Amino acid sequence: MAFDQNPELCMVVFKWIKKLYGFAENFTFNFTVLLLLLFSMDNTDVDPLPPLPKRLKCNACYKQYKKEEHLIEHLNKSYHSVHQPRCAACLKHCKSFESVREHVFGPLPRGFCSRLFSEQGCQLCLAIFGSPEARDEHIELCRLPAPVPLETSALSYIDPEFYVQVSSAENHVGRRPGAIAIDCEMVGGGYDGSIEVCARVCVVDEDEKVIFHTYVQPEIPVTNYRHDTTGLTEEHLRDGMPLKEVQEKVLQILYNEESLSNVRSKLFDGGKARLLVGHGLANDLDCLKLSYPDHMLRDTSMYPPLMKTNSVSHSLKYLTRTYLGYDIQTGDHDPYEDCISAMRLYKRMRGQVHKEKGNGTSITSNIFRLLDARESNKVDKFTLDELYAMSSSDFKCWCLDMRP
Ligand SMILES: [Zn+2]
Ligand SMILES: [Zn+2]
Ligand SMILES: [Zn+2]
Ligand SMILES: [Zn+2]
Repeated sequence: MAFDQNPELCMVVFKWIKKLYGFAENFTFNFTVLLLLLFSMDNTDVDPLPPLPKRLKCNACYKQYKKEEHLIEHLNKSYHSVHQPRCAACLKHCKSFESVREHVFGPLPRGFCSRLFSEQGCQLCLAIFGSPEARDEHIELCRLPAPVPLETSALSYIDPEFYVQVSSAENHVGRRPGAIAIDCEMVGGGYDGSIEVCARVCVVDEDEKVIFHTYVQPEIPVTNYRHDTTGLTEEHLRDGMPLKEVQEKVLQILYNEESLSNVRSKLFDGGKARLLVGHGLANDLDCLKLSYPDHMLRDTSMYPPLMKTNSVSHSLKYLTRTYLGYDIQTGDHDPYEDCISAMRLYKRMRGQVHKEKGNGTSITSNIFRLLDARESNKVDKFTLDELYAMSSSDFKCWCLDMRP
């Protein structure tokens, strides 16, 4: 009756009931927790959990194994060496830079490494700096500006003659081999346009100077100029250089007056001859109908640290955006732009400093491969640290190009 006439009083009483009910509920809960605690404290004679089995950890990639033979098997096929890409924070070895990226920026980022990278790390070259300011300063230099494309209207032919004369006169004794980058643009031949026909060639030196550029006279009728990607038309190729002459010029730049036998010999460092840099060089050499010794090739599509974790090539477009910080192939394919990207990637990889103890720079097969199944008991003579120290790279690191 009083409530009907006084809604405010009604509210006050209702709030009080709610408070009392809440206290009772909390009290029950707290009391239960207390009982449980007392019970668990009293329960001291329960058997402790069995100790965790001892795990063996790989010094390089931190993978863990229960059995020593499994760790040795892992060391045998993982080819850990100072040349493997590593996380700059925890120093974990990875097969490729892509795995380092996954480790630091991936869906399951490691707390410590991810934090350090987000504060002081460079997303392009994956280095870590002393402070966020030092990092910001570094990024200004690490992120490269996109080169201005040559476009199809630009110069039609640059003679490499002068360049070869000037550089072969330099003293090459004790110097690392020089490098040039090449890219060819292909058009389509054959009834369905599927035959690759070389239409344009560009060669740049280490300083990004164009040392050779020409349109190429097609040897078979062109059935598809692939204009949307090449930007080429019949007019461009009509006065192009015959393929034979293009081959001579390219070889002249590559061999640089060094003898054929010297360049072919794997034991020889190439002398005055130049390393050939590119992305998917087999395609360029095929369309030029040229061959060049494998040990003189530096292919950014085949270099293990730059490949996907499943050992498939990345596109040059992806590598340029991820490692150099700019976009290419946004319009027509420009062979100059592609040459510059491949050369920059090569120089970035070559510039890495990998310190090795002793003379471990030779690229031999992994020591464990030499120990076949019959002799595998020899492995027992070494400690795990010694085995790790013996492990060597299964690819030729480009940093070795910097050594005399
Ligand atoms: Zn490992
Ligand atoms: Zn190296
Ligand atoms: Zn790490
Ligand atoms: Zn950087």
